Amino acid sequence: MKPAIYYTLFPKDPVGHLFEVMLTVTAPHPEGQLFTLPAWIPGSYMIREFARNIVRIQASAAGRKIALIKHDKHTWQAASCDGPLVLQYEIYAWDLSVRAAHLDQTHGFFNGTSVFLRVDGQDHLPHMVDIRRPEGDAYKTWRIATALPEQKAKRYGFGTYIAADYDELIDHPVEMGNFALASFKAHGVSHDIVITGRVPNLDMARLSQDLKKICEVQIALFEPKSRRAPMTRYVFMTLAIGDGYGGLEHRASTALICSRADLPIKGQAEMSDGYRTYLGLCSHEYFHTWNVKRIKPAAFSPYALHAEAHTSLLWLFEGFTSYYDDLILVRSGLIDEKQYLKLVAKTINGVLRGSGRTKQSVAESSFDAWTKYYRQDENAPNAIVSYYTKGSLVGLAFDLHIREQTKGRKSLDDVMRCLWQRYGRDFDMRRQGVTEADVEALFDEVTGLKLKRFFDRYVRGTDDLPLAKLFGPFGVTMTDNRKDGKLSLGIRTTRDGNDCKIANVYEAGAAHRAGMSAGDLLIAIDGLRVSANNLEAQLSRYRSGDVVTLHVFRRDELMSFAATLTQGDAPQVVLGAEAKPAASVRKRAGWLAV
Ligand SMILES: [Zn+2]
Repeated sequence: MKPAIYYTLFPKDPVGHLFEVMLTVTAPHPEGQLFTLPAWIPGSYMIREFARNIVRIQASAAGRKIALIKHDKHTWQAASCDGPLVLQYEIYAWDLSVRAAHLDQTHGFFNGTSVFLRVDGQDHLPHMVDIRRPEGDAYKTWRIATALPEQKAKRYGFGTYIAADYDELIDHPVEMGNFALASFKAHGVSHDIVITGRVPNLDMARLSQDLKKICEVQIALFEPKSRRAPMTRYVFMTLAIGDGYGGLEHRASTALICSRADLPIKGQAEMSDGYRTYLGLCSHEYFHTWNVKRIKPAAFSPYALHAEAHTSLLWLFEGFTSYYDDLILVRSGLIDEKQYLKLVAKTINGVLRGSGRTKQSVAESSFDAWTKYYRQDENAPNAIVSYYTKGSLVGLAFDLHIREQTKGRKSLDDVMRCLWQRYGRDFDMRRQGVTEADVEALFDEVTGLKLKRFFDRYVRGTDDLPLAKLFGPFGVTMTDNRKDGKLSLGIRTTRDGNDCKIANVYEAGAAHRAGMSAGDLLIAIDGLRVSANNLEAQLSRYRSGDVVTLHVFRRDELMSFAATLTQGDAPQVVLGAEAKPAASVRKRAGWLAV
């Protein structure tokens, strides 16, 4: 056996959701080999402790069982032995998300972080994995979708796949089952679209056509001259379910979950909100191929997967990716200027809604992603700001500011390209991530501007972005119609059966001032019953300043409050595009067109 790490992965019991893994180490550590499983998966900044899904594990050498000691929640050590050492274990896979593993009669999906134990000290060796087909006639037609390179397997076939090292092994999720498949080329590189799940009349041809546009615009953004993609092959894998949304980026693929209704139907050409959302998600994860999978924060170079890895740069890696995801849709002609500005206005309203934005900067929000953004409670709108949404507005503000201040000579695209050239393109060789100081210096260098104040106020500080002013030269008007808006109690509600439950109470809103709390069941306004869907209609009978009596159940206790209704609690920002002067229209085209 050549020095390498060998795994066999077998979907042993699809009905019981069990994968069986056999791991062979040819040259184990003489003092007893250590094995660990990651505590988190890159791209999702939360400790998930994947090792809790290992249900059975044993070690053997020369055909005999040897001792295996557990040191902590995700570390094992085998007794000292001569190689080869074999570890055999089972993984319970029943997490319907893009972050872990899932197996049943309909399909199998896994991320390496959930199933492949790391052989301590041997990460750098080639890692081979033999992916077996489940036993039984029902699985004869199953295929494999992954960007993991084939070693002894046909494309889409079961067999042996190979990764250069452990880091690569866990960065290629694998889908197996009877999926719909289509392929297209984007600037010469082969891209697969894989859709798992029952989706009648799925329009794969339209998906290919639209994704091709997105991919080509992005490749050209980073490499305008050579148009070279950073990977040799790419796979979009999607699980379509009744109701769902999510995605996770990888170096040459992405795993997505979407609602079945979001996918295009054969014979229908319009751009539905759902389909636009799905394309935005694909665009987002694809942009990460450059921004976070190759241009990486220093804190992720390399990834330390046993504990939290803090960086205050997620506003750039997630926020800018969120800025570009929809911007790419308008630049590829999939949506128009009006639709794009509507999406931006929605983001602005979302950011302005919560007072958390005045307490936490996007740099702090990035740093605390592990304990705050990923572990939000009912008070989140009043306590934190999203490095995704506000980060995307920071990207927008930088872009407009740079374009205007450099008279159109530079833009955020130039900054991204320089980050790519300096940190991303050769990442495999240099393995050097970017620090907070590097980013700031690079912005100044590329644009020739002094942007420290901008960083102080909007990245490290909590000032609201001066978007109305920044939009001006581009002929985009920004108005907040909140005073003409509806009356509001300053709450967000959810449906609880047929009842109306308060999900969030916005700080200083009518409900907060009256004494109500998140979790309260709102049952009546002035003695009239409130149900899951009549709150707005009930409020529409009142005028600003009216005092109403509200009845709620807090747990099982009936409480009553007097609330003064107000207007203007919720921001109602609307963006418009002006048809003149010509100079503004030209600037806007320079920003929104390819
Ligand atoms: Zn992202």
